[in-house]
This record gives sequence, C-alpha cells and structure tokens, in this order.
Amino acid sequence: MMKGAPELRELHIVPGNLRTAILEQLSYESLGDRRHLMVIVMARYATEEHMAAVVGRVRAAGGDAFVARGRGRTIIRLIGEVDQFESLHLQNLEGVANVVRVSTPYKLVSREYYPDRSVIMVGEVPIGPGTMTVIGGPCAVESAEQTLAAAITAKSAGASLLRGGVFKPRASPYAFQGLGEVGLKILADVRAETGLNVVTEVTTPEDVDLVASYADMLQIGARNMHNFALLQAVGASGRPVLLKRGMCATIEEWLMAAEYIAQRGNLNIVLCERGIRTFEPETRNTLDISAIPVAHRLSHLPVIVDPSHSAGRRDLVVPLTRAAIAAGADGIIVDIHPDPKHAMCDGDHALSVADTREFACVATHLAPFAGRTLTPAPGAGGERPRYT
Ligand code: PEP
Ligand code: MN
Repeated sequence: MMKGAPELRELHIVPGNLRTAILEQLSYESLGDRRHLMVIVMARYATEEHMAAVVGRVRAAGGDAFVARGRGRTIIRLIGEVDQFESLHLQNLEGVANVVRVSTPYKLVSREYYPDRSVIMVGEVPIGPGTMTVIGGPCAVESAEQTLAAAITAKSAGASLLRGGVFKPRASPYAFQGLGEVGLKILADVRAETGLNVVTEVTTPEDVDLVASYADMLQIGARNMHNFALLQAVGASGRPVLLKRGMCATIEEWLMAAEYIAQRGNLNIVLCERGIRTFEPETRNTLDISAIPVAHRLSHLPVIVDPSHSAGRRDLVVPLTRAAIAAGADGIIVDIHPDPKHAMCDGDHALSVADTREFACVATHLAPFAGRTLTPAPGAGGERPRYT
C-alpha cells in the first residue's frame, strides 16, 4: 500500500458508466464535501510509481489524495481546491486514464451553494415551488389588436404573465423578423390594459437596455443560449431572465449558461425546457421531461416548460402540459394566437381561443395534484411607468 494512503476500499466500476460508478462510490459524501472532489481514474497498466506521481503533484499544490483500488481499476480521489487541480494538467501524467470532476463546474446556480429552491418574482408574480405560473401570448407581436386579443385569451386560460416576441430569431432571413421597438410599445400598452407583466426575447447585447426599458422579464431564446456576451448583458441588467435550453445543449451546458448570468450578479433566472433535437421527425423537438427533475436536483432555480415549441404541434400542447405539471414544472409558457391559421410565426402550434379551454382546465385542476396552485393574474393595471 502507498505511504500516506488511507485504508483502501473496493470499487466496482460498471463498464461504460464510469461517472455513475464514481458518484455511487462517493455517494456517502455530504454535498459540501463533494464540492471539493475530483477523481483521477488510473489506466489498467498504471504502476505504484504512476500513482505516487499523481498524489505527489496534488499534495505539492496543497491538496490531498486518497487511493481506492477497484477490481479492474484504481481511482485516486483528490480533495481540495478543484479549480486549482484543473491547472495541474494531471491528465498528462503517465498512467492517468481520465480526470473526472465530481463537483459541478457551476456554483451560484447550484443546489450545493443554495440548497433551498428559489422563487423568482416577475413584478408581483412568483415562479417557483408551490405555484404553477402560466405565461401565455403570441409567438410574435404582429399588431396591437392581435396582441391584446391573445393576452385576453391567455389571461382567461390562467396566464399571469404575457409573452410575445418582437425580435424573432428566425431560421430564414426572409421570414418575419418581429416589430422591434414598435412591438415593445404594443406590449407595454397591452400590459397597461390587462395587468399582465411582459416577457419578451432579446437577441443581442446592444438591445438589452432597450428591451429592459419595456419588459418585466428578458427571454433568452434557445438559439442564443450559448451567446455569452448576451448572457452577461442580461446578467448586468438585473431584470429577471427566462433562459431557454439550447436545442442541442446538455443540462450542464444550460446551467453553465445560467451561471454566466448569475456571475454578473443576477440570480433572478428561470430555466425553460423547450425540447431538444433528436432523431424523431414526428415532432419538431423532443420534450426532455427528465430535464425538469434533473435540473431541479442540480439547481435551485425554477424550471418551466414550453409545450408549444417542444413539439411544434397544437395537438400535443395539452398532453405535454399535463406531463410537465406531473413531472414537477414550476410553470408553463404557451403560444396563444387569436387566429393561428394566419399567424406570422409558428401558427402550427399556437392555441386558438377554443383550444385554451382544455389547457385552462389542465392548468387549474392538475396543478393541485402536483402540490401547486395556479398563480392568479394580477388585477388590471392602468398606465405604468417605463422602466428606467
Ligand atoms: C419563442 O419562445 O418565441 C422561441 C423562439 O422559442 P425558442 O427560443 O425556444 O425556439
Ligand atoms: Mn415561436
């Protein structure tokens, strides 16, 4: 046995699922301890000298290292400042097969740092545990009449917040791009008329101040989840942020994007699962239902679901809403249009007035079974000042 090493423990590593096996092995550790854990997986051919070199380098950097020999493999657990270990380039040492960071690379948004679930307030509307908050409205603001009609329908369907895009990140440069500031003014008027606070997308860092001067919550769309300058800009704005998951992003990448916002001092972040790209062509995206409990487990931030963009199909909006509520979502963001057939954007999945009855029924009656109450819409407001 190596000098200075603790009593060795048997480690059974499941082939192909090394990370899970390591986590299982370490599951007795408290969350606090795990924050400081990194694991080195040694190659099968690794010798005592190879292991001693790893342990020596870690101890020289002020950390500690413990060797655990498995049936096929040996792992070395490092304890100390994981960020510092990253700079030791241990993967380059002879006999090292893999370096696994057990601690999460994100901090501020992790449950390890904030164990309780957060409630994010958008004006007086809460999003978080205990409530089911519905955000409804058109995919794109097209006119004052269309936006008001959609908002009134959304409110009667249980929405307490209004959505509507004025900067539309479209796949085609020839498609309707949104009304820009004209659309922001429409949203502000409809807010005054209905009392519904406004959630709208911002697509470039340069527009953050403008959009934040009208909107109550800034949406980062799926296509912009990796736009780090934009994430930093909405972080600096301090305004609540709705962060959609990128269509090809892992949950960890999504939480790292949230960390960019949090790192600028803004922890008012709501995560939104909106479907990921898979091989399945029947739906536009595949709603990753498991992302809800997984993100809740890893992060204290609320998680809502977009059943509209997930499947891109009107007939699936209500079934996916049911699934999302049952899986523990903190809210739903849904596209509603007074005349979906003539919508300038995403008419295929927008709910019409008639469709919203069943949606409202699900939001109202299923939420209590999931331990939540539907967030009521605030009373109609009258003229409200622009944000400055
Ligand atoms: C939207 O909500 O209007 C939108 C464009 O969604 P996503 O970014 O998820 O595609
Ligand atoms: Mn859309």
